[in-house]
Amino acid sequence: MAEQYFPFADAPRQEEYNPCIRCGLCLESCPTFQQTGRELESPRGRVQLIAAVAEGVVPLASPRLAETLFTCLDCRACEVACPSGVPIGSLIEKGRAQVVAAEQSKPRPRRGRSVNRATHWAVRHVMPYPRRLRTLASLLGGMQRLRLLGTFSRPLPIGMRRLASALPEPGLRRVPAPQLAASGRGGLRTGVFLGCVMEVIFSDANAATVRVLTKNGAEVKVPQAQTCCGALAVHAGDRDQARALARQNIDAFLQAEVDVIATNAGGCGAALMEYAEWLAEDVNYRDRAREFSAQVRDVSVLLKEMNFRPPRSTPRPQVVTYQASCHLHNVMKAGSAPVDILKQIPGLEVREMADAARCCGSAGIYNLTHPIMAEALLRTKMADVPDGTETIATGNPGCWLQMLHGVKTYRPGVSVRHVVQILDEAYASEESEAGDVLADAEKAR
Ligand code: SF4
Ligand code: SF4
Repeated sequence: MAEQYFPFADAPRQEEYNPCIRCGLCLESCPTFQQTGRELESPRGRVQLIAAVAEGVVPLASPRLAETLFTCLDCRACEVACPSGVPIGSLIEKGRAQVVAAEQSKPRPRRGRSVNRATHWAVRHVMPYPRRLRTLASLLGGMQRLRLLGTFSRPLPIGMRRLASALPEPGLRRVPAPQLAASGRGGLRTGVFLGCVMEVIFSDANAATVRVLTKNGAEVKVPQAQTCCGALAVHAGDRDQARALARQNIDAFLQAEVDVIATNAGGCGAALMEYAEWLAEDVNYRDRAREFSAQVRDVSVLLKEMNFRPPRSTPRPQVVTYQASCHLHNVMKAGSAPVDILKQIPGLEVREMADAARCCGSAGIYNLTHPIMAEALLRTKMADVPDGTETIATGNPGCWLQMLHGVKTYRPGVSVRHVVQILDEAYASEESEAGDVLADAEKAR
């Protein structure tokens, strides 16, 4: 039946939506339902609407369907709450792909498309190409340094303007990927996934990731043929592009012959872990996709598995709170690993944030496509930042950008860092202390 009313590849399947018993246990976990209280902005409403289309009750072309599916953050909090194991995120992603395919099969109206055309263009033609992304980032960085960003970003949609204004000062630094390949030898062979946004905007977090893994005995490899994880393409309903990117990453990492694949971006890591599902029908790749996905770990989880060495000293005592990336928490199941790492850094006082894994509104391209809801969620998130917080630690570049925008607007003076950067800084301060001791000993001779 579903095939008839969802006529394109990757149709939501009956065995995926039928287990929904309409119990409503997912409702309170859903950030969009929390904001609006509307059934159609809840997980149950979305699943039931997909079932209604599959049964021919609601047409695929219904604008209500597109709106219902695209207002979802794809944060997956509902899956954790659902007692029936409904794969809600996957159903919604497949439903979006049907909506997009249906729209693309018809003459294009200029307005009213589910995914803003500029955003879709950027997801398809910029994000997967590091050089193009870097050029765009350099352009924005140059404008930022010349204090021209505000003027030139005025014609952009509000979501892009906010994102541009949140870009980290003093500009967009980059540690070139080849330099990262310097590594330890003989330890756990660890492939580091760079991520396109992380590498271009926050590449110092990638460098920190390589350093902390190496310091804990890993042999680090950074395959140069890796590319974008494909998460943004899936969010935008472009599953074919996501699969093409997945195949490239699988080839790159399996050729590198690593034991594990470390990522420091929850959104990317969740996508990498789902390659087995994305490629389940691809006879040439499904086994390799399973092997690849089984190797993926968030860097915090990996460090715990490796029994990482807690640093002995602290660079600066401070109050830190942790904003959990929803994909890192709900899909990668990182649990308390990032907070446990922070708690083992001497001098840090970790104050836990209420409902830390509730989506901050970044959600891939959501803050570009749905800036009003994204801002409402960010405001709520910022109100949950404990008093006295000096640094918000996070584990995903999308959350990081959203937090930067948030602190600029609502909590001036609070900084935002990646968990692994804070750990790296602590190790570095040990080394400089050791250097000082040696210098004093030299002088005393
Ligand atoms: S919790 Fe699961 S079974 Fe219950 S309404 Fe939500 S999706 Fe359906
Ligand atoms: S993925 Fe997030 S926003 Fe979407 S239905 Fe589930 S809880 Fe709600």
